[in-house]
Amino acid sequence: MANDLFNSFMNGPDEKGRFGIFGGRFVSETLMPLILSLEEEYDRAKDDPTFWAEMDDLWKHYVGRPSPLYHAERLSAHLGGAKVYMKRDELNHTGAHKINNVLGQILLARRMGKTRIIAETGAGQHGVATATVCAKFGLKCVVYMGAHDVKRQAPNVFRMRLLGAEVIPVTSGRGTLKDAMNDALRDWVTNVKDTFYCIGTAAGPHPYPALVRDFQSILGKEVRWQLAEQEGEGRLPDTLIAAIGGGPNAIGLFHPFLDDKSVNIIGVEAGGKGVDDRMQHFASLTGGRPGVLHGNRTYLLQDEDGQIQEGFSISAGLDYPGIGPEHSWLHDTGRAQYVSITDKEALEAFQLSCAMEGIIPALEPSHALAHVMKIAPELPSDHIIVMNMCGRGDKDVFTVAKHLGFDMSDTEEGRSFED
Ligand SMILES: *Cc1c(COP(=O)(O)O)cnc(C)c1O
Repeated sequence: MANDLFNSFMNGPDEKGRFGIFGGRFVSETLMPLILSLEEEYDRAKDDPTFWAEMDDLWKHYVGRPSPLYHAERLSAHLGGAKVYMKRDELNHTGAHKINNVLGQILLARRMGKTRIIAETGAGQHGVATATVCAKFGLKCVVYMGAHDVKRQAPNVFRMRLLGAEVIPVTSGRGTLKDAMNDALRDWVTNVKDTFYCIGTAAGPHPYPALVRDFQSILGKEVRWQLAEQEGEGRLPDTLIAAIGGGPNAIGLFHPFLDDKSVNIIGVEAGGKGVDDRMQHFASLTGGRPGVLHGNRTYLLQDEDGQIQEGFSISAGLDYPGIGPEHSWLHDTGRAQYVSITDKEALEAFQLSCAMEGIIPALEPSHALAHVMKIAPELPSDHIIVMNMCGRGDKDVFTVAKHLGFDMSDTEEGRSFED
């Protein structure tokens, strides 16, 4: 479909923060000055080589970048088609891609002279990454987390507390991520002077979707030169695949390739128990429709009255009832394709990655891998797929054990999966 808004897919958003009809800035007047000063500071930082030099230094020495681009040879042979590469962002400090974005936002906060960082978190991963970087820089950290999630994600709550963060359980609404984000926005308005809101997803009012994307774009930029190094100068991936919660890891991988028309781009949403009208999924694009939430217009899971729906997924990190506005735009323009993968399919991919590659993946990238498993066998051996292995699975082994019927309490008796 025509892309008549920008002459390049990489130029979005426009000056009003819109990607086509998506994105924008739907915020109260009290929030507006905060958003504008953030935008101003970000515009300055973005063009400042000293800002990026500091990022590069921390990415290298604190996070462990660049993460490897790894040819999954046994997995590729097993699937019998395309050549599959994994972008190994699960090897980052804190075990996922989230820290790429958090580092950028905290450096921005420091430039703005802010001393108190607030964040929202669902499964706790973004909260842990934020608490980590705050500890490193000696900043006060307050994390809003739905009361329901606080109960479900006790290990991450403890991690955040060890790292010195204050975790505030949110009891409004259903006590999940959406409610935590609302409370964080309220806190921000109340504590204008010293507070910076570090958003974990590629959504929210402009400029958040753009700046989160820019910080995560290190993923795609690395893939570009790493693939050229391994496959020859100028060789681009044929297909990119990434899992989508709110969209940061996916947009970070995709963005540097948006204008390379030969590159197929596929985002994978959480299909939970199946994308139908039972709402037991978190596939905002495949099962939702446009609306406004958290300051931007985008595809949302909502009922007929526009009430936000809570879906279901085996993967706690994918349960955001919306999606970053840039993905909505890429979807509607046809530049990227969006599919969904069920819990069952993700569990199969999880086990295959363990068995074939010795990599225990998080359940989120297991969704991306499950889609690789679907399409790779039909593709020729010179077709290169790059999937984002955006997180490691240590956090998920208990969930997986439960679903596979493995009783953790029995391990002392020497039981194993084979018994
Ligand atoms: C948070 C998280 C996700 C969610 O994906 P987004 O990049 O937020 O869309 C996926 N994988 C892992 C490992 C995560 O921690």
